[in-house]
Amino acid sequence: MRSWIAVILVGGLCAAHPAWGHTQAHEHGHSRLQLVADPGSVAIEWRIPMGDVVGFEGSPPDAAAAARLAGELERLGEAMKSVRFEGAGSCQTAASKAEVEGAGAHPDILVSAQWTCDAADALLALSFDPWALLPGHERITAEWLLPAGQGQARWTPPATRLSVAR
Ligand SMILES: [Zn+2]
Repeated sequence: MRSWIAVILVGGLCAAHPAWGHTQAHEHGHSRLQLVADPGSVAIEWRIPMGDVVGFEGSPPDAAAAARLAGELERLGEAMKSVRFEGAGSCQTAASKAEVEGAGAHPDILVSAQWTCDAADALLALSFDPWALLPGHERITAEWLLPAGQGQARWTPPATRLSVAR
């Protein structure tokens, strides 16, 4: 599943939208959320500038910062369990986690989660509150790839619902 997502998103969406290429430096206050659904599952990868989460990027400068980073990774991973899906039938969280992704001056926090759903290919929308998780965050560029097609949207506060319907 994971390799398939990478092929589709890196080879497909990012090729179609070079400005969102994974190798570019991020923009603070702005994150990217990518959703892929197939008939039985939904997967989300959400990339947030590391500094927006913990106030520093790269190695933690001290023990307190390291503890804060560990706590934030735990918090963001757990938060994905609160995502709700409309139209997809009954969904169960299969995995969720957050980790630091990338080296150099501007690493991201990659929040990733997967769910198994009865009717994931009929997904209409997802609901959760990213703005409560990340106070001050300005926008999310959302991209999705469903069996019926793909789309994109600019997700901004205070909206807590993202429609992926055609
Ligand atoms: Zn940065």
